[in-house]
Amino acid sequence: MTTRIVLLGATGSVGSAVVDVILRHPDRFHVEAIVSAGSDVCALASVARRTGARFVAVANPQKAETLARALADAGADAASGAGEAAIDEAVDRDADLVVAAIAGTAGLRVTHRAIRPGRRIALANKETLVSAGDAFMRDARAAGVGILPLDSEHNALWQAMGDACSEDIEELVLTASGGPFRKWAAEAIAAATPEEALRHPNYSMGAKISIDSASMMNKGLELIEAHHLFGVDGARLRVLVHPQQAVHGLVGFRDGSVVAGLAAPDMRIPAAHCLGLPGRLNTTLPRLDLAAFGRLDFEPPDLARFPALGLAFEALAEGGGMPTVLNAANEVAVGAFLSRRIGFGRIAALVRDACEAFAGRVSHAPDSVPEALALDEEARAWTHAQVTRGMAVA
Ligand code: MG
Repeated sequence: MTTRIVLLGATGSVGSAVVDVILRHPDRFHVEAIVSAGSDVCALASVARRTGARFVAVANPQKAETLARALADAGADAASGAGEAAIDEAVDRDADLVVAAIAGTAGLRVTHRAIRPGRRIALANKETLVSAGDAFMRDARAAGVGILPLDSEHNALWQAMGDACSEDIEELVLTASGGPFRKWAAEAIAAATPEEALRHPNYSMGAKISIDSASMMNKGLELIEAHHLFGVDGARLRVLVHPQQAVHGLVGFRDGSVVAGLAAPDMRIPAAHCLGLPGRLNTTLPRLDLAAFGRLDFEPPDLARFPALGLAFEALAEGGGMPTVLNAANEVAVGAFLSRRIGFGRIAALVRDACEAFAGRVSHAPDSVPEALALDEEARAWTHAQVTRGMAVA
């Protein structure tokens, strides 16, 4: 039996891990369509050739001809298009599994569009759940679409919890690498450069998620993700810093038992799990060698040095539209940091300011994905204005 796949975000770090797994099992998968939100058409054309994708779409509407030419040059026999209509055409193709791996809020609209009866969605796009989790999960449930957690922590938690019912789960623990600033003093972190913040100890990832890992906002977004995926409230969610990243998540049950999800820190392993379901793929991916680690370290997160994580806990407790605001403000602040308009320490400060500015008028969670996108837009505009004003003052 072959699984027909639509891959959204084919050239990013998660997309590349999924492509790697697909290519190791050519008889098991048929790639119906691939999409890139970026603009590297040569990389996309190469993925098209290697996977034999039938249809290829790129977000930038100016890139239609360049993409067609790159596909021809790569020797890929695929139809193609550019812009929103082309992306929609890709999502609408017949598929058993849609891999949602477009980073940022850009992935939200298209991931929601992927909801369709008879499909499963392997979800790596955090913003879909952080920004519009209530509406997205409600629509997925209504359509009978299974959501498979592709993010490594959530995948580990999901495997560890098995078919336990929610009231048997006392807590879910997400582990965090601690990022490049794990041992840095607060003042040094506040003054960190983009180059320093982009140096993740274990994974090579896109810029946005690398900065989020450095501020630990990534773990904050993952808490909110876990809340929506597993129906567990913030009081039952915990973060543990674990630099070796051998343990990805732990499920504590009410009888005191703890089941942990472990694997070598390699995104292809959770990808292989999602792609292999309902069975297991036979892979030669890196195996976890605990003796080689020798020891595993754990420590509580330091919310004083990593205030972004505390803000995410607060936004989750606050609920309503607050996580949407948190996510939007963070995305703008990270962009401003990467373009050197604000310092690293300002990222969390801006997010806090945005959450305070919107408090009191976002008590209801967005009722639909368009509503979430509208609030997202508003929070982005507010944060942009703060960045610009801060620069004028400076
Ligand atoms: Mg993760």
